[in-house]
Amino acid sequence: MRMPPRAPRARIALMRAEQLLRAGQYAEALPIFTTLAREAEERGLYEPAADGFLQAARCLLELGRPREAADETLHAMSLLALAGRPDRIRSVAQRAAALLGERGYPELAARLVQEAETPPEAPAGPPRLTERQYLRAAALAARLPDRCPSCGAPVIPSELKWVSPGVGQCAYCGSIIKPTLPRTAH
Ligand SMILES: [Zn+2]
Repeated sequence: MRMPPRAPRARIALMRAEQLLRAGQYAEALPIFTTLAREAEERGLYEPAADGFLQAARCLLELGRPREAADETLHAMSLLALAGRPDRIRSVAQRAAALLGERGYPELAARLVQEAETPPEAPAGPPRLTERQYLRAAALAARLPDRCPSCGAPVIPSELKWVSPGVGQCAYCGSIIKPTLPRTAH
């Protein structure tokens, strides 16, 4: 087979694993897909990693290891969310669920579909302030300008979103509002 010159090692390994998969040599393809997927995940390449775990799941199913196949599919689904591709999650789950259903594992199939329908957890909000930070913020709030420097909206400390102690975010335009520097007595 003709290969592009200096094809990256991972690309060659992937082509080999896909050949093995097509040839029905699942036990040989599985470790290659798993290794490539883990390497991609470690490098933050979440969508290629998800595709690798899905191929591994396919091999596991063919090898009669449906539970592991479902686990790898769930992992791939969470990687797709990380990759900013939540739009792929449902179709991935439905395809895997159809295969699991055909092979006689309806409860595993149901688990995947249910997981795909569960909305992802809300992203973590800003870190909560400690009490000490809160008190410091309250003290500094007195030094905030009366009006937002960007949009002119009145600055009401209780309505501000605090991004760090003493530094608020305008409730109207989102601009960062910093305290005015304290006057030094001379
Ligand atoms: Zn503003």
